[in-house]
Amino acid sequence: MNTYEIINENEINEILKESKDFSKEEILEIIEKSKDCYGIEIIEAAKLLQVEDEHLLEKMFEAARYIKEKIYGNRIVVFAPLYTSNECTNNCLYCGFRAANKSLHRKTLSTEEIINEAKVLEKQGHKRILLVCGEDKKTTNIDHIVESVRAIYENADIRRINVNAAPMSVEEFKKLKKAKIGTYQIFQETYHRQTYKKMHTSGSKADYDYRLTAIDRAFEAGIDDVGIGVLLGLYDYKFDVIATLIHSDYLDQKYNIGPHTISIPRLRPAIGSGLDKVPYPLSDKDLKKVVAVYRMAVPYTGIILSTREDKNLRDELINLGVSQMSAGSKTSPGGYEEDDKYADQFETSDERSLDEMLKVICKQGHLPSFCTACYRAKRTGEAFMELAKHSHIHEFCQPNSILTFKENLVNSASEETKKIGEEMIQRELDKIKNEKIKQEVKKRLERIEKGEKDLYF
Ligand code: SAM
Ligand code: SF4
Repeated sequence: MNTYEIINENEINEILKESKDFSKEEILEIIEKSKDCYGIEIIEAAKLLQVEDEHLLEKMFEAARYIKEKIYGNRIVVFAPLYTSNECTNNCLYCGFRAANKSLHRKTLSTEEIINEAKVLEKQGHKRILLVCGEDKKTTNIDHIVESVRAIYENADIRRINVNAAPMSVEEFKKLKKAKIGTYQIFQETYHRQTYKKMHTSGSKADYDYRLTAIDRAFEAGIDDVGIGVLLGLYDYKFDVIATLIHSDYLDQKYNIGPHTISIPRLRPAIGSGLDKVPYPLSDKDLKKVVAVYRMAVPYTGIILSTREDKNLRDELINLGVSQMSAGSKTSPGGYEEDDKYADQFETSDERSLDEMLKVICKQGHLPSFCTACYRAKRTGEAFMELAKHSHIHEFCQPNSILTFKENLVNSASEETKKIGEEMIQRELDKIKNEKIKQEVKKRLERIEKGEKDLYF
C-alpha cells in the first residue's frame, strides 16, 4: 500500500495555503451548510480552522452544539481507562512510559490485579472501559490483551471494553476481534512524517507507515469499529486536524465505514518525558475550535474528551460537540487500587470522581450514558453508520441512556447525585414522544429499582 496516497503532505499544505483566503460571508455559508449534518468539504474545514474572529467562532460553536444535539441528543457517554501495563520498548519522546525513562516504576498487572482494577471501576458504576498498555512484545502482546479482556468480561460487570494498543498484524487483529472488544483505538500522534520521525526515536512505533495502515489491517481482520486521533501539540494542529479528516474520508470511501470516534488528546507533562516544552502549543480557544470543526466536518463521529483537560475547559467542551468523556481516570497500571505517580503515563488534569462528574453533566443539561447496547445488538460498522448518518441512532440511545444511568443511580451514586439524576431522568422521560416506548421505559426503570440489571433496547 502506498501510504503517500492516503496522506499527501503537499496536498495538505496546499489546502492550508488556499484556506487562508476566505471572507466572513463564506464562513457563515459553511456554518449554515454544516447544520444539514452531512459534513463539509476538507477545504471548508480548513477555512474554519483559520477563523480567529470571536463572533464567527461563537457561530461555529453554536453550530457544533446544534449538530451534536441533533445527532446524539443531550447524551454524554462516560467511561474510564484501565491501564494493564506501563512496560514499553518504544521511545516516544512525549510519553512517561518510554523505554528511556529509567525512573518509571514499571509494572504489568497480573490477571488477578486487572480484575481488581475492573472491580473498582465497576463499583463506581462504570460499564465501559478503555484498556490501555505500552508496547512490549514480551509482556503486552496480543495474548496479554486478549486474556485481560476475557478476564474482565468474565469477572466484572463491565459490558464494553475498548482497546487502545499498538498496531497489529491481521492475524493479531483477528484474535482481538474474537475477544469481542468494542472499539479499537489508535492515534497516529502526528501525520507529519518528519515530526513523527523526530518524536519516535526507536522501537517499532518509529514505523509511521505500519501505524498509518493499522486500521486497514483491523478492517481486513473484520473489526468494524475504530477510533483515531492525533496528539495535539506535537505539530501544527491545523495540519494534523486536516490530515485526520483526510484519513477519516479515506476509510469512509474505501470501506464505507468512517471512524466511530475521534479523540482529542492534548499533550500533557509527563515525568521522565523527553520534551522540555510543548513543540506546537495550542490554546484552549484553539482546542474548542478543533472540537467544533470535527463536529461540523464528520457529524456522525463520536468525539472523545479525556481528563487531560482541566475541569473548567471540560465543562465548556461538553457543550461544543463532545459525545464521550472519561471520568475519575488514573493513568498508571494498578492506579485505581493504589495510585503511584511514578508509574503514570502523564499527569491528568481533571481529578473529579465519576460521581462528581455525573452531577456536573446533569447540571449542564446533559444525560450521562453508560450504554453498551450497540455492539451487543450488532449495531456496529456500516449498520451503525447508516443509523447515525440519518440521525436514527437517537431513538435507541435515549431510552438506553436513561436505563443505564438509572442503574448507576440505584447501585453506585451518592445521595446528592441520586437526587439530581432522578430529576434528570424525569425530564428525559417527558421528552419521549412515542407513548409505547415511554411506558416500556417506565416499566424497565421500576425493574431496575427492584434490582434487575442490564436492560436495553
Ligand atoms: N502504547 C500504545 C500506543 O502508543 O499506541 C497505546 C497506548 S498509549 C499509552 C495511548 C496514547 O497516549 C498515545 O497514543 C498518545 O497519544 C497518548 N499520550 C502519550 N503521552 C502523552 C502525554 N504526555 N500527554 C497526553 N497524551 C499522551
Ligand atoms: Fe509506549 Fe505508547 Fe507511550 Fe509510545 S505512547 S512510549 S508506545 S506507551
